[in-house]
Amino acid sequence: MTIGRRLRHLRKAAGRTLSDVAEAAGISPSALSLFENGKREAKLSLLTTLAGVLGTNLGELLAMAPPSRRAALEIELERAQRSSAFKSLDIPPVKPGPRLQTEALESLVGLHRALARIQAERQATPEQARRANAELREEMRRRGNYFGEIEKVAADLLTATGYEGGPITRSVVDRLAGHLGFRLRHSADLPQSTRTVTDLANRIIYLPQPDAGQHDSRSLALNALGHVVLGHEVPQDYSEFLRQRVEINYFAASLLIPERGALSLLRKAKAAKDIAIEDLRDAYAVSYETAAHRFTNLATRHLDLSVHFMRISKAGVIYKAYENDGVQFPMDATGAIEGQRVCRYWTARVVFDRPDLSSAYQQYTDTKSGTYWCTAIVDRTAQGLFSVNVGVPYADVKWMRGRETTARSKSRCPDPTCCALPPGDLADRWEGMAWPSARVHSHLLAAMPPGVFPGVDQVEVLTFLERHSAP
Ligand SMILES: [Zn+2]
Repeated sequence: MTIGRRLRHLRKAAGRTLSDVAEAAGISPSALSLFENGKREAKLSLLTTLAGVLGTNLGELLAMAPPSRRAALEIELERAQRSSAFKSLDIPPVKPGPRLQTEALESLVGLHRALARIQAERQATPEQARRANAELREEMRRRGNYFGEIEKVAADLLTATGYEGGPITRSVVDRLAGHLGFRLRHSADLPQSTRTVTDLANRIIYLPQPDAGQHDSRSLALNALGHVVLGHEVPQDYSEFLRQRVEINYFAASLLIPERGALSLLRKAKAAKDIAIEDLRDAYAVSYETAAHRFTNLATRHLDLSVHFMRISKAGVIYKAYENDGVQFPMDATGAIEGQRVCRYWTARVVFDRPDLSSAYQQYTDTKSGTYWCTAIVDRTAQGLFSVNVGVPYADVKWMRGRETTARSKSRCPDPTCCALPPGDLADRWEGMAWPSARVHSHLLAAMPPGVFPGVDQVEVLTFLERHSAP
């Protein structure tokens, strides 16, 4: 809308008519009028053309201040009244025409600003975000972490591109992208706040340089394609944003480890009582984490196994977790488990104490909700050491490789005397004499940075696209 006003201001200042400018830009006068009134959004490529016709460029057009204070207020009021938050209040809008006094305009805009700020704060609190996350996890649990409709989309895509089996190589990913009308391009200057950026106008997916991080560029490319294939719209709230994240990750995993091939491998392994995450990892040339997570998608639905999965830091803090086998993750009052610390005696933490971090470690653990057998590996990343852990209840261990382990451990958590409180004599000796300074996880305390895509710097993204789409 702001851009529309600027276009009109520039056009009038240059003394040019709608039809004159529209013709020069190759569009109809009525289309230009719609853009100027903010009734329709112009693509960046068209904005570039229009800016050129009006003797400026897109960067300047985007950076231009509104022509006057009054115009700025009118734009702001119109925009505020169009928001779904305002519409949901069912308050009649005010037409910001010339008859509206500037004083009243100022006051209305001030009220809208205050309202937006309160709503943004309320929506973006970590508590809300955690609640949305907990709800989503509950749904995944009900589905046994299996999304049949995404499996179907992935299988159809693989068939359409002539995939016959084996690992999904980068060239298969390129073919998939091509089939969907996209090109993949690596770029050294992706915005800091993004993993990939998709140019929907020119159908290019920008990926980081392969050496820039631990991410496999195949997953990143498939994540980006997932948004398109699954018909995602701009997320309306944080829970939709989270759901989209889950769906694109599922989409990528269902292509990297196709259901049919993985099932034939896993069913044979189950028949031989020799299921191992490592075999899935090696057969599809993916990370242990991808294989472990994918195993949880298929285990309940197709193999009749209950499972749990965890990725935790060396400090024991949960980054990702899923269970449908009754294992009791530590949980805060909102039902969130990310950021909580798991029991010191669980496999996922004991694995860090092993002298050899290169191989998987297995252990039986007695907990308040039963005995579980788990296998874990340590993952070295730029952010430090993490462990990835997959486990099954005792009744299902007969299908798993590594069940012969004699390692055993007992956890009484959430009883604080299990491992959360120091032993009594130690506590007595140091009573009142220890003062640690905590490492604060600021991302857990801060509200999500506001914006359409939480945490994404939209200015960076658009200037990036602009830079790269210039002819
Ligand atoms: Zn414990």
